[in-house]
Amino acid sequence: MIKADLNWIAEVLGVSPKLPNDAQSIDGSAVIGEISTDSRTISPGQVFLALKGPNFDGTKFVADVKDKGAIAVVVDRLVDVDIPQFVVADTLKALGALGKAVKAVVNPTIIAMTGSVGKTSVKEMCTAIMSQKGQVLSTNGNFNNEIGVPLTLLRLEPQHEFAVIELGANHIGEIDYTSSLTEPHVAILNNVAEAHLEGFGSLFGIVEAKGEIFNHLQEGGVAIINADAEQAHKEYWLGNLTKQFERKSGRVMQFGLNQAFHGDVDTTYATDINLNDSGCAEFVLHAAPALFSEQVEPKSINISLTVPGEHNVKNALAAATACLQIGASLDDVQRGLATMAKVKGRVNLQPVDDQLLLIDDSYNANVQSVKAAIDLLSTYASKQILVLGDMAELGEDAQKYHTEIGQYAKQKGIESLYSFGVLSQSASAEFKESGFHFSSKQALVSHLLEQLEQYRQAGQKATVLVKGSRSAKMELVIEQVFAER
Ligand code: ATP
Ligand code: MG
Repeated sequence: MIKADLNWIAEVLGVSPKLPNDAQSIDGSAVIGEISTDSRTISPGQVFLALKGPNFDGTKFVADVKDKGAIAVVVDRLVDVDIPQFVVADTLKALGALGKAVKAVVNPTIIAMTGSVGKTSVKEMCTAIMSQKGQVLSTNGNFNNEIGVPLTLLRLEPQHEFAVIELGANHIGEIDYTSSLTEPHVAILNNVAEAHLEGFGSLFGIVEAKGEIFNHLQEGGVAIINADAEQAHKEYWLGNLTKQFERKSGRVMQFGLNQAFHGDVDTTYATDINLNDSGCAEFVLHAAPALFSEQVEPKSINISLTVPGEHNVKNALAAATACLQIGASLDDVQRGLATMAKVKGRVNLQPVDDQLLLIDDSYNANVQSVKAAIDLLSTYASKQILVLGDMAELGEDAQKYHTEIGQYAKQKGIESLYSFGVLSQSASAEFKESGFHFSSKQALVSHLLEQLEQYRQAGQKATVLVKGSRSAKMELVIEQVFAER
């Protein structure tokens, strides 16, 4: 965080603090260590901001945080504690205002991204590319909601030239709010798919919600959309953008797997895509000419990715399009992507020995990402086994989507499908005698190990891909296979 004192908080929140009885005025010499919403980890010099949710009320912990050395609290009603209290109507809004104020002081160039899948992957790619140019602050893990985004902005420090901010949504209006705090220079709408349907009602609800990322683009900002998105969705976003660009200047760029100029907007695309032995793509990236003010011809460069799957080519195109807009060169794109670290739980290749490869993609799942995973699995020249936990939050058609996944895997030639969870049983049912359903992970792992042993004895290699929504905790399958093998 930036160097600030309690006077700065008073100014940002527009309220004078209620001081303890013996204090005449704010201690202006007290520099804030940080603003924290977590009473468990608060440390001396920090300011505690008490959030409230359906099952918790942060104000209960003010005495505790004072004992731990907090110098002030932000609360929604006066509480019994003898350190300065900033009393506001809504502490979540106060958190947003503070995050936005820190951002205004540091003033980094900002890329924001949203989409149904690939947000974190694109974020990591943008971070890797922009780190070739200067200091980057980016979202930690999945801190992409109305609490996580302001907490991320609060972490900005003067040395940060760039910020890469992931925006997620469970409901309409959430990204409008988080992008109003972020005010990106470049905003990426990666894709829409049947994820979190429950909070949106319909697929078009998701289209609208994700489109909110363009609502608060900076003057002259760039909106990046997926060339392969459905035409109706693109028309909706472009319509909204046209309205915005009447008020502010700005432009639209596209990215897509194939050279495809839809309408008159520019597209960055890939050709010559090859997956290497580890399933990571190598390809030629062709950057749209408009990215280079002095160039007429498009420019191309060879790219090697460190993360597997063809879907990551799309993510890389999105990230490259964004970074090229804010000063990265094609060499920065190439170097950044070639040296990027793997993201935990997302398509992590874990070779057990030369007979068995485990692919841990257990971090999360929805229809689109499971299909991408199946595409990847189907590229291995070995016995291919899909271990699937339930895809959560799919609404009333959840069963249907799981059946569809079973059909898709079968059609792609996957050898067998192991399922865990009530819904994914419909997927393994599509595999008839090579589909296996389990109500315990232990039983699943035992059966899987027996199967793998048979392959081993027959001298056959196997690749096992493990995937499921966060709630299915399918990483436990990976851990048990390693433990018991
Ligand atoms: P979350 O909503 O949990 O924040 P996210 O949008 O940040 O997810 P990632 O964490 O990058 O997405 O990836 C989640 C899963 O989606 C991974 O399993 C990954 O393999 C898959 N995935 C990533 N990008 C794409 C893509 N462009 N198309 C299809 N699947 C993808
Ligand atoms: Mg994410």
